[in-house]
Amino acid sequence: MNIFLHNTLTGKKEVFTPISKPFFGRPKVGMYHCGPTVYNYPHIGNLRAYVFADTLKRLMKASGYKVEQVINITDVGHLVSDADTGEDKMEKARAREGKSAQDIANFYTQIFFKNLKDLNIDTEKTHFPKATEYIPEQIAIVKTLEKKGFTYKTSDGIYFDTSRFPHYGKLGNIDIQGIREGERIGTHAEKKNPTDFALWKFSPSDHKREQEWPSPWGVGFPGWHIECSAMSKALLGTTFDIHTGGIDHIPVHHNNEIAQSESAHDKEFVHYWLHSAFVTIEGSKMAKSEGNFLTLQSIKEKNISPLAYRYFLLGARYSTPLNFTWEALEAAQTAYKRMNSNVAELPNGGRARTDLVQKALSFISDDLDTPKALALVWDILKDDTLSPADKKATIVKIDALLGLLTKEQEKASVIPPAVQALALERQNARVQKDWKKSDELRDKIKAEGFEIKDTPHGYTLTQL
Ligand code: AMP
Ligand code: ZN
Repeated sequence: MNIFLHNTLTGKKEVFTPISKPFFGRPKVGMYHCGPTVYNYPHIGNLRAYVFADTLKRLMKASGYKVEQVINITDVGHLVSDADTGEDKMEKARAREGKSAQDIANFYTQIFFKNLKDLNIDTEKTHFPKATEYIPEQIAIVKTLEKKGFTYKTSDGIYFDTSRFPHYGKLGNIDIQGIREGERIGTHAEKKNPTDFALWKFSPSDHKREQEWPSPWGVGFPGWHIECSAMSKALLGTTFDIHTGGIDHIPVHHNNEIAQSESAHDKEFVHYWLHSAFVTIEGSKMAKSEGNFLTLQSIKEKNISPLAYRYFLLGARYSTPLNFTWEALEAAQTAYKRMNSNVAELPNGGRARTDLVQKALSFISDDLDTPKALALVWDILKDDTLSPADKKATIVKIDALLGLLTKEQEKASVIPPAVQALALERQNARVQKDWKKSDELRDKIKAEGFEIKDTPHGYTLTQL
């Protein structure tokens, strides 16, 4: 089945074609998702970016891909303004909390991991590289850029000269001319162009930073953008399939990543760029700087399950802005609970209806149309032409894409392959009217702890 993704690079929905060709086994897909800056609690808006990345991963897995996924941890170098001005967010947190940057990073990284777990985000084999662990790789790219003449030095760092990269601003068709004519305020007087950005920043002379490293240009720390170019190169290569982030990353961060990676390696950096829309609250972007943010913890404190928030998110396509209200979240909680209890009441042992599972996959393959897949689950629950056990088996299979069912239900409906094989053998015996063999197989299935029943729609298996 074709996968269609809306590519910010072309502004179009395109068929996904992976870079890797499968010679042996499954084809691979390499995906990089800009991760959190670990200076504070992630807010529920930030977490949308990872539920989106997770849906993409689930889609790729269900479509037979081997997924190589990277979510980086930004633990240095992200300045208060994306345009390289202001304090480093980690240093700011250090002053606020009176702890070391390392302790702050460790603390909020653990919170982030806990949030991912609570949201049922599949982290199997996901890499979570920390920017501070890839300093030599970042320096190496800056050296390459310097050698090729893309950099210049100012009093506070080494900068990338964006006028040397002809395609600068290609992602999202950014009006570079407008910016160059002075739209972007607060730019640095020594920059050659307002869009130029820091690759390496020198430690300030008036106070000591905790996080600093020697480099060929002086003691300092990396720019935020170079971190993602270096970590993606180290783990996925110089060209990879998919890069995601929130829409706020399009104009600056992602265009900067493209400029430096493509200039350093003379290769296309990423084939598909996907961006998730904001979670807003009372019409404004939820943001730490706005002070209007909610954490997953604050939701839990109101007795709302994090999976109800996941349900709320999946109720809209990732690219649609989503306005948060407590009423909408409570409605999502009611629906999420109802879905789980309806599924829990169904007997185990049925068989998934392949056509319906494929239908759900086709919705998610259409640029992650999660609302349609959710609606399909409700249609299946209401569909009386399906046996109750088959309904359950079908929904559990579809849930591999949605991640909304509680673990107990998934486990309860898993029938061991040996029992499935006996049930199939018995079905064949019945087709051949070999009733004796059929009864013997029923006993064998019972000995394995399952009861088999025959219905007009086929057999059901229930754990005894
Ligand atoms: P940060 O930790 O600030 O680097 O952000 C982590 C991710 O959250 C990025 O992909 C941002 O684009 C995304 N993000 C930030 N604010 C929001 C929001 N209000 N709604 C959705 N995503 C957001
Ligand atoms: Zn990034």
